[in-house]
Amino acid sequence: MSYKVIVDLSNSAVDKFFHYNSDFPVPNGSRVSVPFGSKVIEGFVIEETDDSEKATKNIVSILDPYPVILPEMVEMSKFMKKSNVRFIDALRLCIPADLRAGRVRELARNFVDIAETVSYQDAKKLISEKSQAQHNLLDRLSTGGAFEYVLTREGFSVAVINRLVDKGILEKRAEEIRRTPKSASIERKSITLTNEQRNAVDEILTSDDNTFLIHGVTGSGKTEIYMTVIENLLQSEKTAIMLVPEISLTPQMLGVFRNRFGDKVSLLHSGLSAGERYDEWRRLYKGESQVAMGPRSAIFAPVRNVGAIIIDEEHDTSYSSEKYPRFLTLDIAEFRARYNDAKLILGSATPSIETYLKAREGTVKLITLQNRINDFGLPTVEVVDMRKEIRGGNVSIFSRLLVSTLSDTLLAKEQAIVFVNRRGYASFVRCKNCGYVAMCTDCDVSLTYHRDDKRLKCHYCGKQFHELKVCPQCGNQHLAEGFSGTEKVASEISNLFPTARVARLDNDSVSGKDAHLQILTKFGSGEIDILVGTQMVTKGHDFKNVTLVGILDADQSLYFPDYGSNERTFQLITQVAGRAGRESKPGRVIMQTYNPNHPVFEFATDYDYLGFYERESAIRRVTKFPPYTKIVRILITGKEEEPVRVVAQALRDKTRDLMNGPLKDSFIRVQAMSAPIKRLENNYRYQVIAVLNPDCDDALYSIFAVAAIDDKNIHTSVEINPRQMT
Ligand code: ADP
Ligand code: ZN
Repeated sequence: MSYKVIVDLSNSAVDKFFHYNSDFPVPNGSRVSVPFGSKVIEGFVIEETDDSEKATKNIVSILDPYPVILPEMVEMSKFMKKSNVRFIDALRLCIPADLRAGRVRELARNFVDIAETVSYQDAKKLISEKSQAQHNLLDRLSTGGAFEYVLTREGFSVAVINRLVDKGILEKRAEEIRRTPKSASIERKSITLTNEQRNAVDEILTSDDNTFLIHGVTGSGKTEIYMTVIENLLQSEKTAIMLVPEISLTPQMLGVFRNRFGDKVSLLHSGLSAGERYDEWRRLYKGESQVAMGPRSAIFAPVRNVGAIIIDEEHDTSYSSEKYPRFLTLDIAEFRARYNDAKLILGSATPSIETYLKAREGTVKLITLQNRINDFGLPTVEVVDMRKEIRGGNVSIFSRLLVSTLSDTLLAKEQAIVFVNRRGYASFVRCKNCGYVAMCTDCDVSLTYHRDDKRLKCHYCGKQFHELKVCPQCGNQHLAEGFSGTEKVASEISNLFPTARVARLDNDSVSGKDAHLQILTKFGSGEIDILVGTQMVTKGHDFKNVTLVGILDADQSLYFPDYGSNERTFQLITQVAGRAGRESKPGRVIMQTYNPNHPVFEFATDYDYLGFYERESAIRRVTKFPPYTKIVRILITGKEEEPVRVVAQALRDKTRDLMNGPLKDSFIRVQAMSAPIKRLENNYRYQVIAVLNPDCDDALYSIFAVAAIDDKNIHTSVEINPRQMT
């Protein structure tokens, strides 16, 4: 027998099929060890082949009791390979990282029980009257076995256990202990679907369409729809994949799902311990659980016979993987939905312009939920013009309205969320005398001051520097701080309201895998009054006692130099506003801005998604931006500037050759230039931007081929419709 094998080395030069013979049959998808060069390494069997003459060596052994790569995932890897993701790197996405090289195992422990051949009564007679400890142990086990470590913790000694095992009264066997990720404990509600929800579920289950967009305002009960659809599909032996945007959100959503589905749900994400991840993955693989939940990486869950793939908050940018191996979750989801003939369900209160256009064009079936579940409707949004505040003599970061409303909220024993789109204490440090700005030494980026650990940090590469007391350029002691971040906001709120319990939720405030969960749990149980945070606080949370949301510097996200900034701003405001007044009390939103007349704010304060969509899509159509075009960026990076620039020009020329060839109808324009951040982590960065007409897969794959250069000093990557381009 002969097989095609992909070896487990992440290197383009060997990312191809190697042929091996075998003395024993090897199922497709098996992890195997094979001789390679002078070593024995791991690899994956892709398929059996007839041409055994190509093989000179034999597979040494099969490494797991079952093939770890499903046939579907082999096809998916071929699909990803077309966008320059190495076969091996696609395969690696499908299994827990620690499975490779055998770094993680099942956790088996001794389980002690009364021997099957012995009854409790007989056993009692076999133990002498004097051995009280043995009687106690037997009594303890009379209602069922227990793990040995549990028994010893309860005070039973190993010696006593072993004595009874020797007598044949007790039996020990190895049994697996499941490592389970924590979830938030969520109060169980008994729920009858509203008509809107019922109709949505019926539509999804009975329609011939395969892809749906649920456009439902925040708090319209989308989760309940997802769960009812999944419940129906599980009854016909199908499985489901439930994707959520951020790991920090998962424990809550997991809690809701566990209430409904119990053990049928498994969580997959990189924040789990290796053991948890392995156990959850294996339960899905074996069909012991049928619902895979997690952030984007969970799209690679090892489930068969998928009935539904759900992407909650589909507009969220976390669904595109920024680092190699780059992929768009939606592409993989579409692939898996096609492969399994599954329903693909996208949900959002603020769908991406791209998805909404598809719904308009009819390739995605639109389901609209107009109403919140509760009776109060969406919270009112009040806009505060911060220029007027300054003119009125208030130079603090909070408007008078926000301060007085925070105070009312605290008095009413209700909770508030304050959203700031910036972490750290202050965005940059600038000398008031000479204008010096503290910059990262490795990136063309100004540093952010973090007062908690008295450091200046680069938010792009993470490099840290000592805080500055004097300007290193002119010695002046008057250093100005830039825009306030979460640290400063939280600390000023504590100054204003010394008795309030204030906490921060951002990437700095939390470390450790359950830290987010702890903060959110405390907030949920009312142990925190005011939660200050970055985008993390905007997403999906369902806290019933939150009645006030404050938005600081709402315009901040408008000025990123890319076509998506209006869209992102609209989404942020709508999402964070949606956290207020979700249950039995009405909500209120106070939005501070220096630019109150910007059209985005007018649409956002009215929750007018359609109005926003019409305006934004008209602009994009005219200015030739996605979704009316596809922007493809080849990013070229390297240590030396000149070679990077030269390669960028060469790639531009090659891409222009494509534009002048048979694919010319796909191209609108091709340009080369330095990237918006020209130097990052000590690498120079140039880019080639190709603007294509939509439906241009051939042109796209040709660009991928152009970008795949073989130069060990220069790295290239291709992004499609990049957001927040740096
Ligand atoms: P969305 O995801 O659309 O923002 P959720 O799914 O989080 O909204 O639902 C908002 C709240 O309404 C949740 O607390 C949920 O338990 C509750 N809810 C959903 N559907 C119903 C229903 N039919 N009856 C009562 N409460 C519901
Ligand atoms: Zn840096």
